[in-house]
Amino acid sequence: MSELAVEKSVYDADAVRAQFPILHREVHGKPLVYLDNAASTQKPQVVIDALDDYYSRLNANVHRGVHRLSQEATDAYEYGRKAVGRLLGVDDDRQIVFTRGTTEAINLVAMSWGMANLGEGDEIVLSGMEHHSNIVPWQLVAQAKGAVIKVLPIGDDGAIVPGAAEDIIGPRTKLLGITHVSNALGTINPVRELADLAHAQGAVVLVDGAQAAPHVAIDVDALGADFYAISGHKIYAPTGIGALYGKAELLEAMPPWQGGGEMIRSVSFEKTTYAPIPAKFEAGTPHIAGAVGLGAAIDWLLDLGLDAVAAHEDALLAYATEQLLALPGVRIIGTAPHKAGVASFVVDGAHPHDIGTFLDMAGVAIRTGHHCAQPVMTHFGIPATARASFAAYNTRSDVDALIKALGRVIEVFAR
Ligand code: PLP
Repeated sequence: MSELAVEKSVYDADAVRAQFPILHREVHGKPLVYLDNAASTQKPQVVIDALDDYYSRLNANVHRGVHRLSQEATDAYEYGRKAVGRLLGVDDDRQIVFTRGTTEAINLVAMSWGMANLGEGDEIVLSGMEHHSNIVPWQLVAQAKGAVIKVLPIGDDGAIVPGAAEDIIGPRTKLLGITHVSNALGTINPVRELADLAHAQGAVVLVDGAQAAPHVAIDVDALGADFYAISGHKIYAPTGIGALYGKAELLEAMPPWQGGGEMIRSVSFEKTTYAPIPAKFEAGTPHIAGAVGLGAAIDWLLDLGLDAVAAHEDALLAYATEQLLALPGVRIIGTAPHKAGVASFVVDGAHPHDIGTFLDMAGVAIRTGHHCAQPVMTHFGIPATARASFAAYNTRSDVDALIKALGRVIEVFAR
């Protein structure tokens, strides 16, 4: 995007940034420039206040108590569920199950739906850019049930190879597991198109929304998702809380995957019956404060406006990409036409871990490594990338600080 277009935007990133206390601290005597948002975002004051308020005024266990605090804690917890529904375009909040995050949400589907519905020779189709959390749970089920994993290949731009899905998704496909946005490459996948192909074969579609939720307005029905998984900590909420959306008829037919309190209707040593959804999948005392914080974070994000945030981050990504490519020896990994939030790159002669360490000394936090997507690294024939990833509070000055520090790294390694 041109400089003019960025300046024309009415989005006030400095005002957004001012709401994040941690962004005012220094690292190694330098102002913190936080560009590791795909790993975890920072928290605005409203979310910190919501946690403080919860523990200062409301703290009690949910659902079981008749006393006032338990009822208020339950209301605050259930408000978080409704907020997730608003984020994902879901009216019926029985379809929102709280989990620890995306990883647990996918494991829930694999261990419950997968164990009950997959058999010998059934095919699970994943893409070549999945996070390990959307690979390993399916391998566990495939090993147990004799199912087979098939992979949608990615091309050198980091997008799924055109036409591959038509060849690979077929009558034996029982599940398509696809990331909405790739954490290692930034690629936005054509989820609806892929979901239509899978549904035409009678398959179920699980979408990993960990990286999409902070950057893209989501409507699970419009996407054709039967399951959609998100992590709170990537959308300005606390760690340890996330959610799984599942179509009611699927969730209702699925067996529980963890047993304990909260998830039962009645228990005897002879027979146990289960609570209706979503409680059937929420055994034990949940992360109540996390759900409260998640509700506050979603309210905050939706107030800011996901379209405005997305436009701001797209502009930053375009600016960062242009600036990175102007540096000698820099190659961007992931150049698909539709991308969100992530600039992954390698630099000739410099190992990504050394780049990360040098940048840290300049106060610039990026991530280096395989980003829990080793098949992506294998595809590109590299051990790791350096990754700058953007959030609602990042500014062009953050990109400038990254580029300046990276310029010095390149000088050192070019010597
Ligand atoms: N899927 C993607 C695309 C991710 O980027 C991540 C985290 O980086 C996950 C899944 C796992 O999320 P969590 O660790 O919050 O469960």
